[in-house]
Amino acid sequence: MKILVTGGAGFIGSHLVDRLAAEGRQVRVIDNLSSGRLENLAHRRDVQVIIGDLKNPQDAQKAVRGVDAVFHFAANPEVRVSTTNPDIHFSENVVATFNLLEAMRKNDATQLVFASSSSVYGEPPQIPVDEEAPLRPVSVYGASKAACENLIHAYAKLYGFRAVALRYANVVGPRLRHGVIWDLINKLKKNPHELEILGDGKQVRSYIYIDDAVEATLLAWKKTNDAYAAYNVAAADWITVDEVADQVIEAMGLANVKKTYKPVLHGVGWPGDVKKIALKIDKIKQLGFKPQLNSKEATKLTAKNLISEIL
Ligand code: NAD
Repeated sequence: MKILVTGGAGFIGSHLVDRLAAEGRQVRVIDNLSSGRLENLAHRRDVQVIIGDLKNPQDAQKAVRGVDAVFHFAANPEVRVSTTNPDIHFSENVVATFNLLEAMRKNDATQLVFASSSSVYGEPPQIPVDEEAPLRPVSVYGASKAACENLIHAYAKLYGFRAVALRYANVVGPRLRHGVIWDLINKLKKNPHELEILGDGKQVRSYIYIDDAVEATLLAWKKTNDAYAAYNVAAADWITVDEVADQVIEAMGLANVKKTYKPVLHGVGWPGDVKKIALKIDKIKQLGFKPQLNSKEATKLTAKNLISEIL
């Protein structure tokens, strides 16, 4: 079986490539290197890498030709950007996904695993949410992921695809180059005495360590027989942004850091940011998934991972 990983030079994609290659599978990557890095794949001689852009239908066709299954992880993952530049998320996420689906339909590739996000739920009245909760995104990023899920659902029903959408919480670990832990480390690198936190620090999030996320992804792909299924992927608990900041400060060996807060609206970091989100994971657990790290362990280990990568 030949597998295509879109966005395979990125954070999650490159870990997935490692795992698929370790299972002895033939792997091809397409990546436009907008946020991904070839060094994430530098240790892989056994993977074919196409530098190409899924916004271009010809590149999508070239990538899908001869492939049986597609793990679609290419996207712009920066939620904040989607508020100031909504068009980026429409083209990078929705248009690119449409081009990929068309290429799959025309090339008889019928298995798809899609990197969706907890942001499709928006700000649910109660947490944690299960997969039956309504999709009410409050960011263009979340809306783009919900739109992709719906396109994929239609293709699955119309064209005989078998598709799974994984609604990831915040995925963290080595090679991560965006998100709160990355931002906090870089701010402290510039000024180890003061740390500006976007929001009131009380925003609640579930996290998941990369090894657990990859494990859940493969389980969902291998064990789902329905034409379409969506799964939450997270650790079962959640923590605040303030707790994450304290972990980063500690991991950097700093003390007496003055934390300042920059809340907008109801205490979030920017319009489109979510105050509280956590996920029920009973559905993926039924497939045998058991996260090895909780949110606190995952963020603590990631702070250490990233500090050793960049300091
Ligand atoms: P990442 O930025 O490291 O990876 C995305 C990859 O896609 C990059 O290598 C980038 O160069 C590539 N890419 C972007 N647009 C492309 C295009 N048009 N054509 C080809 N390649 C393109 O981000 P990540 O954190 O690894 O995220 C991977 C996927 O998981 C994304 O779809 C993201 O939305 C989703 N996701 C991530 C998280 C998280 O916490 N990291 C949470 C939920 C969902």
